[in-house]
Amino acid sequence: MNYDIIIVGGGFAGLATAITASRNNLDCLVIEKEKELGYPVHTSGGSWYSEMLHLGLDKNLLHPINSIAFHSPSGDVVSASFKDQDPYGCIIDVRGTIQFLAMKAAQEGAHILPNTKVLSPILENGEIVGVNTKSSGSESKNIFSKIVVDASGSLSLITRRLGLKEGKWQRYGIGAEYEAYVPKLPDENHVDFILGERFAPAGYAWIFPTGKNRARIGVGIIRPDSKENPFKYLEVIMQQHPNISKYLKHAVPIEYHHGIFPCEGPLPKTVSNRFISVGDAAGQGSPLVGEGIRYAIQFGYLAGEVAAKAIATDDVSEDYLMQFYEEKWKEQIETNFKIALEIQKRLARHSDDDWERKISMLKALDFDKLVVFLNKLKGEL
Ligand SMILES: Cc1cc2nc3c(=O)[nH]c(=O)nc-3n(C[C@H](O)[C@H](O)[C@H](O)COP(=O)(O)OP(=O)(O)OC[C@H]3O[C@@H](n4cnc5c(N)ncnc54)[C@H](O)[C@@H]3O)c2cc1C
Repeated sequence: MNYDIIIVGGGFAGLATAITASRNNLDCLVIEKEKELGYPVHTSGGSWYSEMLHLGLDKNLLHPINSIAFHSPSGDVVSASFKDQDPYGCIIDVRGTIQFLAMKAAQEGAHILPNTKVLSPILENGEIVGVNTKSSGSESKNIFSKIVVDASGSLSLITRRLGLKEGKWQRYGIGAEYEAYVPKLPDENHVDFILGERFAPAGYAWIFPTGKNRARIGVGIIRPDSKENPFKYLEVIMQQHPNISKYLKHAVPIEYHHGIFPCEGPLPKTVSNRFISVGDAAGQGSPLVGEGIRYAIQFGYLAGEVAAKAIATDDVSEDYLMQFYEEKWKEQIETNFKIALEIQKRLARHSDDDWERKISMLKALDFDKLVVFLNKLKGEL
């Protein structure tokens, strides 16, 4: 059981890494603990249309969004419409996208091992040389490689074991979401965000349509700022929000999703000899809005390319991976994410009155200024 590269986790980051690693001739193995890639769903899939196309996703995986509204707790609204342009945002078909990336990785030559859990790293002289795994119903097995990539998401399994992340995440978003049949959904291409303590303390709630009278209705709450359970707020929004409950009262949940999103900003160090951390495992998501999918794919592609070059030049040292992987991804987002984290900490303390004032202020902006505000949420700080 020897490979050039082992990737722990078959999510967005792990599969993107597998695509470029295999394309660059690495013998690559992705290990996924779940029986099916892309299941269970633990994300809402909100993203940006042109960015997702740019990352190579198929149009049919992206439900287009061309209008957006922010609701205060009392029902005051600010909205922006982009109906005469290309879609502004999108809601991703999460399971479809993971399967699409898995098929691409397989077509490039990657091996994928579902239903197999990585238990621990194998270390030799303090360096990672492989992983110990267990598939259900069989003995544990050691698998070796020249490079190991941790793409295990918020679990950060190997990153933690190698001492690059100490203890549990101290600051993180905890999310609960229904995917529901919504018979009276007024606009299939419009997303709503709900703010305020009454509906999403220290966080926000969202209604993301996915087409054909389906929508994801979710609440994300930031720990440690609030100890509330987001699940309990789903019903509150559906039954009590002055604007939203008009059509969500009739929603029928079909799926329940939940998960954790690290909100501490990028980890100080994401490489060591023979090792790369990527995606949520490396803290590569935007702390401001809890957006991590596009970064997981983008930096997954980078991780696979750099791993291939490192192996081709016979240099899998921390120095090499630092220069060509860590410094490159940090150049692109580190400063923005640090600012985003500070803004997010401030917003998490907003009271309902603060949000009433903020929404009313945003209403006074003309369209161009509102777009500037939206682009800030998008990460252009
Ligand atoms: C409720 C919620 C809503 C969100 N909404 C959005 C959104 O709207 N837009 C957005 O961009 N981002 C959103 N995010 C963030 C986004 O989901 C993550 O940033 C993204 O999934 C990170 O991708 P990843 O591949 O790093 O990790 P993951 O998608 O978590 O993938 C990790 C994979 O590793 C596997 N794994 C874990 N441990 C092991 C092990 N020991 N052995 C083998 N396999 C293992 C897991 O099963 C999983 O398949 C949301 C997050 C949450 C929790």
